[in-house]
Amino acid sequence: MNYLNGEAAPIREERLNTTNAFGGTCTDLQTCAGKKGCLNGFQRSFAQTQGCQFTLSLAILNTLRNAVIIMHAPIGCGGCSIATAGVSKTFRRLRDPNAQGLIWLNTNLNEADVISGGETKLKEAILYAEKEFRPDAIVVASGCVPALIGDDVDAVLSQLQGEVAATLVPVHCAGFKTKIMATAYDSVYHGILKKLVKDPEEVERAYEDELEQLKEKFRLSRTVNVLNVSSMSRLDELELERLLTALGLTVRFLPCYAEPETFTHVSEAALNISICATHDDYFINHIREIYGIPFVLKTIPIGRKNTDLWIRDIASYFGLEQEAERLIEKENKDLNEALEPFRHKLKGKTAYLAGGEIRILSTAELLIDLGMEVIGVKGYHYDEFADPLIDVLPNKDKITFNAATGQPFELANLLEKTKPDVVIGHSGGNSMVAKQGIPVLPLFGPTYNYLGYSGSFEITRRLNRLFKNTMFNKNISENTKLPYKKEWYEKDPFHYIKNQDEIV
Ligand code: SF4
Repeated sequence: MNYLNGEAAPIREERLNTTNAFGGTCTDLQTCAGKKGCLNGFQRSFAQTQGCQFTLSLAILNTLRNAVIIMHAPIGCGGCSIATAGVSKTFRRLRDPNAQGLIWLNTNLNEADVISGGETKLKEAILYAEKEFRPDAIVVASGCVPALIGDDVDAVLSQLQGEVAATLVPVHCAGFKTKIMATAYDSVYHGILKKLVKDPEEVERAYEDELEQLKEKFRLSRTVNVLNVSSMSRLDELELERLLTALGLTVRFLPCYAEPETFTHVSEAALNISICATHDDYFINHIREIYGIPFVLKTIPIGRKNTDLWIRDIASYFGLEQEAERLIEKENKDLNEALEPFRHKLKGKTAYLAGGEIRILSTAELLIDLGMEVIGVKGYHYDEFADPLIDVLPNKDKITFNAATGQPFELANLLEKTKPDVVIGHSGGNSMVAKQGIPVLPLFGPTYNYLGYSGSFEITRRLNRLFKNTMFNKNISENTKLPYKKEWYEKDPFHYIKNQDEIV
């Protein structure tokens, strides 16, 4: 796989046959995807709106330190960045107390630009960013309008690269090109791979003597790139670092909250560790292809069993199996003791999960481990990376899988019918769930630890606290209304999902 000769990353509908329109059991889903091969034809005859890849690209881009983000788009695209500006600044300062907050500019394309082109505005914005902020990198995120009117963004950047000190990085993420938001990750990595990642030979190293060279060689043989995601908290990073350091590994986190300079050292590592295939497969496959660096991708370290698997997988690359087993044994012993008081309180409770496919399916495994019953999951999409996590679910023929980016009306219907004791969901949809009176636990949060063994304890502790008093959301539901009619709740939640042939 090497798509770097292209201007933009391919869309995931084509690269991975990803779908975001499905309703049925997990078994139905896998049958449809694998044996029948009909999944990619599924779509909705009615759909609510959803996020676009431009906005999701900003989830990574807005974290980069020493970089200015130029949104080459109308002013509304990326306006959502206001919501994350505070977190972005705080999280940067957890890494560097002197770090600047998020800096973004928008070229504010309007009707006149649609006719005369937006390249002049883009040039002005780049030169302004360079003069005003002197960043290490200027990242240009291009939305729908420049793609539609034919702005040659790459040519503008090539022309200006000789005039500015910052590295200019194009990220082509026009929202209309894909319905799979996660294409955003590929679009961002595409730009990073082309402009920021460097050949090891290009990165100059000065060593005093041979001994220093050997030391450096050893350090690199134990250095791993851990691919973080913007939904990870700093506590999550510290937990993963604790586990990997216990194996004697040196950890470098990227892409989120990294500096442009960090990417120049990507190839100086023994292993790339993804914690989420949805996020990273494009990047790590390219790095393996170009620099020969292997990767692990199987699972996300959420829940006891997945964390065990994640550690074993990493350790096997370094011949550290015995060390890994000792670590796993000790961590499991401690965790089991810590979870014991909660198990009988959580046993038998029902849960519905909503969010990214990898995160929800691994959380499902944790809940089942705690004796809870998972009745359904709503993933933003489905692709091959979900299969290993689905395969280990008991009763997968009874667990509902709704593949849907957005589409809260389907979730509302499902929840009305199934009435779970709790929904663990992405913060973007939790207020709707709360209005149905169902207790909600966020699927991630900037201040809480979700990953690793300590994350398992934290999720369990929070669930237990949630069940102690569920009146808050009940009160909300009694005083608010959702916009759906009774007739909708009486219909099949997947009424509007059709095979392509069924849509007239
Ligand atoms: S779909 Fe296009 S126009 Fe809409 S926010 Fe995304 S990039 Fe902007």
